[in-house]
Amino acid sequence: MALIVMKFGGSSVGDAERMKRVAGRIAARQEEGHSCVVVVSAMGDTTDDLIDLSKQLYDGQPPAREMDMLLSTGEQVSIALLSMAIQNLGKQAVSFTGWQAGMMTEAVHGKARITDIQPSRVLQAVEEGKIVIVAGFQGMTEDGQITTLGRGGSDTTAVALAAAINADLCEIYTDVDGVYSTDPRVVKVARKLKEISYDEMLELAHLGAAVLHPRAVEYAKHNQVPLVVRSSFTNHEGTYVKEEAVMEQGVVVRGIAFDKNVSRISILGVPEKVGQLAKVFNALAAEQIDVDIIVQSGVTSGLADFSFSVSSNDCDKAMTVIDRLKPEMGYREAIPEGNLVKVSVVGAGMVSNPGVAAKMFDSISSLGVSINMVSTSEIKVSCVIEGSRLNDVVQALHTAYGLDTQEQAFVGGPSERR
Ligand code: ASP
Ligand code: MG
Repeated sequence: MALIVMKFGGSSVGDAERMKRVAGRIAARQEEGHSCVVVVSAMGDTTDDLIDLSKQLYDGQPPAREMDMLLSTGEQVSIALLSMAIQNLGKQAVSFTGWQAGMMTEAVHGKARITDIQPSRVLQAVEEGKIVIVAGFQGMTEDGQITTLGRGGSDTTAVALAAAINADLCEIYTDVDGVYSTDPRVVKVARKLKEISYDEMLELAHLGAAVLHPRAVEYAKHNQVPLVVRSSFTNHEGTYVKEEAVMEQGVVVRGIAFDKNVSRISILGVPEKVGQLAKVFNALAAEQIDVDIIVQSGVTSGLADFSFSVSSNDCDKAMTVIDRLKPEMGYREAIPEGNLVKVSVVGAGMVSNPGVAAKMFDSISSLGVSINMVSTSEIKVSCVIEGSRLNDVVQALHTAYGLDTQEQAFVGGPSERR
């Protein structure tokens, strides 16, 4: 018998029918002999709808404290209804808000980090044989204010609670089957991964794989919480996220991620002076603009060129900042460029296998696509390329790294239950 945290996202509990199905699923898990603690998100688009409502009543950014008061209601609806649905099946269940479950956070509204969890109430109810339903996404500050953890924060609630109660497993139920080698909408033969390491998952989550919130993965890694991402609609085995994922022979790249929302700004003819780069990036940071890849080319006759990539949503704002700096920096011109994408290959096996980047550059250039920017980490290589060729490039990389067939050995094999 295991202690399991089960987390269901908003789409899994989007209406009464789905809520009933989830209740049945939880009851079945308990009947297998497990103790279940459930974390649930707000139903469907509730959080978005509440944000829309607030915009109709307040011009500009609504007061952060009241926003948290408002948004936390979404999850409170879910826990009460889910608890009723489970009790309707003749099982014992009890719902707890974030603060009742002992989720303490820092005193920041809208994006609070969890500082401590006091799960005695949760554990007591588990002890009494109850299924415990906890509201995701919310917590409380030391002086009793309601906070929320940032969009998508219910994943973090689930993982943090799993760590605090020393659960054997944290199951993240969602509307996809697991983590794939790449987006199956782009590459038909994309494979569901049987396992992936925390570090690989962290890279993929940061690169935009929406299946898990990056902060939740960080939390899981830090506390060594075994995770599984699986479908709330089927019984297929999901993808396990853990410290060391099995490396099939020859698998160096685990997955391919892409971000379609990339722009590049080039600043050309910048007089060489100490502090020019700092000026640019301090000014961008002051406007909360996240810069991704930065490239500085060599200096010719005292003039340097810089370029950097930002999310396309931030491109206009970044250009305004750069224009404003022109008199002070004395550069010749600044050029924005949209319609770019960032393609990344991720795999822990890269650490000990040279040639991953070379293979990537070869594959991309053999399609006649030029590479605009490159960045690397220990387990990732990213290239910024023109957007129109994205699908071809992802397909080619998927084949080049052996992902079209490789995972067959451990995905969809005999262990997969229907
Ligand atoms: N309901 C919150 C959101 O939509 C939290 C979550 O779903 O994880 O962002
Ligand atoms: Mg949601």
